[in-house]
Amino acid sequence: MDIKAIKNLKCGKVHENVSLKNYTTYKLNEKASCLIEVEKVKHLEKLLKYIKENNIKYKIIGNGSNLIFAQDFDGILIKLKDFNYLEIDDTKIKVGASYSLIKLCLKASNLGLTGLEFAAGIPATVGGAVYMNAGAYKSDMGYIVSEVDVLTPDFEHKTLYNHELNFHYRDSFFQHNSGYIILGCTIILKHGKKDDIISLIEDRKKRRLMTQPLEYPSAGSVFRNPTNDFAGRLIEEIGYKGKSIGDASVSLKHANFIINKGNAKGSDIVTLIDEIKEKVKKKYDIDLKVEQEIVK
Ligand SMILES: Cc1cc2nc3c(=O)[nH]c(=O)nc-3n(C[C@H](O)[C@H](O)[C@H](O)COP(=O)(O)OP(=O)(O)OC[C@H]3O[C@@H](n4cnc5c(N)ncnc54)[C@H](O)[C@@H]3O)c2cc1C
Repeated sequence: MDIKAIKNLKCGKVHENVSLKNYTTYKLNEKASCLIEVEKVKHLEKLLKYIKENNIKYKIIGNGSNLIFAQDFDGILIKLKDFNYLEIDDTKIKVGASYSLIKLCLKASNLGLTGLEFAAGIPATVGGAVYMNAGAYKSDMGYIVSEVDVLTPDFEHKTLYNHELNFHYRDSFFQHNSGYIILGCTIILKHGKKDDIISLIEDRKKRRLMTQPLEYPSAGSVFRNPTNDFAGRLIEEIGYKGKSIGDASVSLKHANFIINKGNAKGSDIVTLIDEIKEKVKKKYDIDLKVEQEIVK
C-alpha cells in the first residue's frame, strides 16, 4: 500500500500502523496498516475510487462496538468523522452516520419523542446501528428508520426506503450487499410524555448496569439468542461462565458477554467463541450464531 500516495489524496487524517485500542470497544491491540478519518462525502468518494482502482482491502468502521479484529488488518479502515448533521422537524429526524446513537436517544427523550428508548445503552454510531439493525427490548432501528442515504458501490448517491432494507433481527440489506456506505438516515418517532420516556431510559440503564459487565471492554452480546432460548443460559450450561483464554474471558456477570481483562487478543476471543459453539452444538444440537463481526 502506497501510504504517501494515500496521504497525497488529502482525504482526511491518515494514521499509519495504528493500534485499534481506541477504535474498538473491546480495546484490542491489533493494528491496522492504515486508518483514515474522513470528514466530507467528496473526500470519501475520492478515497473509495482510489481504493477500487488500486484493489486495496478496506472496511468502514463506526464506533467499533461490534467488531473483533482476529488479526492485524492489512488494509484501510475508514472512519466517518463529522458526518454529524442533525435536523429535527417535529417527529422527523434527519441524522448523519457518525452521530452517536446514545446522544440521539437522549436528545429525542428531552424533546418528548418516543421510539428510540431501546437505544440508550447501545454505544453505536447511527451508521453502524442501521447496518446491524441494532435493537433491544423487542424494538430496533427497522421500526423507526424511514429511509437511508447511501453512496452505492458505483458512487451514486441514492435514498433507500425502509421496505427495501430488509430489516430483521440484527440483520439488514447492508449485511448482504457490500460496498454500500450509509451517509445518514431519516428516523420517524412519535410524541410521548417526556417524564415517562426519561424514566424508562433510566430504569433500563440501571438494569443494564446490574446485569451486564459494563466495567470491562466488550462488544455487547456475543451470540444471537436462538429461538425461544438464551445464548447466556446455554453457555452457563456447558460450564463456560468465567472461562478464559489469555485475557479474553466469559463474563461471570453475563455469560453471553466476552470481556477483555487487559490485553486480550482478537484471536483469543475467536477461539473462545469457537469452543462455545462446538460445545453447545455437541450438548444441545444448537448452532449458535455470532452477533459480533469477526474481521480478518
Ligand atoms: C456494552 C455494549 C452493549 C451493546 N448492546 C447492544 C444492544 O443492546 N443491541 C444491539 O443491537 N447491539 C448492542 N451492542 C453492539 C453494537 O453496539 C451494535 O452492533 C452497533 O450497531 C455497532 O455500531 P458501531 O457504530 O459501533 O459499528 P461498528 O461496530 O464499527 O461496525 C459494525 C458494522 O457496520 C458497518 N458500518 C458501520 N458504519 C457504517 C456506515 N456508515 N456505512 C456502512 N457500513 C457501516 C461496519 O463496516 C461493520 O460491518 C452493544 C455493544 C456494547 C459494547
